[in-house]
Amino acid sequence: MKDYDVVVVGAGASGAFLAYELTKLKTNKKVLILDAGRKVENRLCPISTGKVDHCISCKPCNIMYGFGGAGTLSDGKYNITTNFGGDLHEYIGEDKAMELMEYVDDVLMKFDGGGDLELFSTDKNDLKTKCLRYDLHLLDAKVRHFGTDRNKIILQKIFDYVKGTIDFSFSTLVKDVNYEDDHYLISTDKEVYRAKHLVLAAGRSGSKWIADICNKFDVGLKSNRVDIGVRVEVPAEVFKHITDEVYEAKIMYQTKQYNDVVRTFCMNPYGQVVTENTNGILTVNGHSFTDPKLQSENTNFALLVTNRFTEPFKNSNEYGESIAKLSNMLGGGVLMQRFGDLVKGRRSSERRMKKSFTKPTLNATAGDLSLVMPKRQLDDIIEMIYQLDKIAPGMGNDDTLLYGIEVKFYNSVVDVDEKFETSQNRLYCLGDGSGVTHSLSQASASGVEMARILNEL
Ligand SMILES: Cc1cc2nc3c(=O)[nH]c(=O)nc-3n(C[C@H](O)[C@H](O)[C@H](O)COP(=O)(O)OP(=O)(O)OC[C@H]3O[C@@H](n4cnc5c(N)ncnc54)[C@H](O)[C@@H]3O)c2cc1C
Repeated sequence: MKDYDVVVVGAGASGAFLAYELTKLKTNKKVLILDAGRKVENRLCPISTGKVDHCISCKPCNIMYGFGGAGTLSDGKYNITTNFGGDLHEYIGEDKAMELMEYVDDVLMKFDGGGDLELFSTDKNDLKTKCLRYDLHLLDAKVRHFGTDRNKIILQKIFDYVKGTIDFSFSTLVKDVNYEDDHYLISTDKEVYRAKHLVLAAGRSGSKWIADICNKFDVGLKSNRVDIGVRVEVPAEVFKHITDEVYEAKIMYQTKQYNDVVRTFCMNPYGQVVTENTNGILTVNGHSFTDPKLQSENTNFALLVTNRFTEPFKNSNEYGESIAKLSNMLGGGVLMQRFGDLVKGRRSSERRMKKSFTKPTLNATAGDLSLVMPKRQLDDIIEMIYQLDKIAPGMGNDDTLLYGIEVKFYNSVVDVDEKFETSQNRLYCLGDGSGVTHSLSQASASGVEMARILNEL
């Protein structure tokens, strides 16, 4: 059995930045990072390489698992803000959270070659005022968009930087954890490791596993939120005046009918809509490239309705999964519908899709989202689309494409203190798997902070 000072489960955004910071600090700790996925260079999604045109549920999914985690093949959009993307500031304070996210940005820029990639900001324009005229609320943020292509190269360089200091074991699924003689015994599908400190950084893909470990060690957990919605795709011109200014606009709206909050999320100018596989359930997501040769003519983003549940219901994620499963059942994966068909109460068919002026970037099944999504959320989304049409005319066109279901799962929030330590001694949880963060910037920042804490021990 190999002994370590620290074992980290997950080499995702938080694990990678933890490794970076410990390397930079020239740590004297013996650290091992275990990840169920592969190294960056071996992470290829067969859809993006053109081998297949739909998700074939690879195990492990290269989009979600491997060095850099869900971030590596993502759009690489780093939002420097505490207005969304997690609650890191509630644990470590607003100033420190912002400082760490700025630090992460500096590191990424350094590995990007110190170039002049634009940092978009909501401060520099009057979009906020325009939105307010229609009761739409633009959230303040700075955002750096690296794009899927550039992001992957940066992550590869980070790995090259840390690999001499930190031990890694890839394609290694951590199965169980036990506690004996003041040490953690970490059982994987290969061997058992022993460590004084154990960090759970297993992200969204490992959230169920984290919940099991927390239950085993009596660590508190709560889960009461899930966001459900669709991914919208429109010709890029419709949102160009907004995306050119801020790249990504996080706009919130409270519907008149139900008083529910609907928001735009993950905006991808000239991007692609993609399928995402979370534990075998197919949902929809989006990304875009910085290289103009790889860009599409469309902009996509999610419209999400926030659902918060009260007692006795405890598993909000299962609610989201059940709805996504319905769309998988009817569409064999992701369903797609023209907005015009949805409001007219008819399904989109192959024939109607062929006539659409907006050409889909994802090969999804044309169908009827009203058979899948509860009426309340669907009404909320329709109301939001008409509202957005006032600041982005064309949004409410018949050919606006809606893909479903997009689900934003919120991992159960693990009870941790300001050092990410649980009630179980020297058991830490950070990143998205802890429920504390929900974004690249905040997850990476939590990794940097964890490294500094561990290095001081
Ligand atoms: C398609 C897509 C696009 C996204 N785009 C953006 C974006 O543009 N901007 C943004 O801010 N956020 C984006 N996100 C979210 C972002 O990727 C996450 O917030 C971030 O990666 C969280 O980091 P993490 O370290 O907490 O977890 P992850 O990055 O998910 O890493 C977790 C790691 O743990 C490993 N793991 C899980 N379970 C086990 C186990 N049992 N044993 C061993 N290893 C395990 C996984 O292999 C994975 O590598 C996107 C997500 C997806 C899926």
